[in-house]
Amino acid sequence: MRILIVEDEKKVAGFIKKGLEEETYAVDVAHDGEEGLHLAKEGYYDLVILDLMLPKMDGLEVLSELRGGKKDVPILLLTAKDTVEDRVTGLNRGADDYLTKPFAFSELLARVRVLLRRGKAEVKTELQIADLSLNLVSHKVNRGGGEVELTGKEYSLLEYFMRNQGKVLTRTMIAEHVWDYNFDTFTNVIDVYVNHLRKKVDKGHSKKLLHTLRGVGYIMKA
Ligand code: CA
Repeated sequence: MRILIVEDEKKVAGFIKKGLEEETYAVDVAHDGEEGLHLAKEGYYDLVILDLMLPKMDGLEVLSELRGGKKDVPILLLTAKDTVEDRVTGLNRGADDYLTKPFAFSELLARVRVLLRRGKAEVKTELQIADLSLNLVSHKVNRGGGEVELTGKEYSLLEYFMRNQGKVLTRTMIAEHVWDYNFDTFTNVIDVYVNHLRKKVDKGHSKKLLHTLRGVGYIMKA
């Protein structure tokens, strides 16, 4: 898990960084808004801790830029005590939580843990699209109230489709996520599996969920 801290007060940034590293997180620090925005946009982070009062570009601007650019990384705002309005604005602009300074590290850590969990789809126990549901715990799949029997591979394939519903998935993407790296993507195995899955999931239902995009790949959508 990689975390970005955007905080100009070096003492505060250092204190958070040290504490999080002791908890085995990988941590980067940016000391102004511009650098923070750049890192958050370019790097891969599981969480951004963003101070509101920053030089060059303030936290609210950074937040707007990130959310405007469709970055959905969880964001924890650090705010001063007397900035209720900024806090509300921040939450409205897509921050996930805030912490008022000064705070105890244990409190920060608790928020970080919650946000990191929230960011992960694994917290969900069920995936759903239209009347199709997949239970991640029992591995049971239901369509319109009736149980759908799948093989292990078909289940993995369906899980990948349901986690990415509405997105076009190429055969390469499917191969990388559902099969291991030894898999030869130039075979038609994926098409065969998708066809099996489609029969089990869509056959007999008027609303089709698994669609072929000729020459591109597949998409699951209601
Ligand atoms: Ca600051």
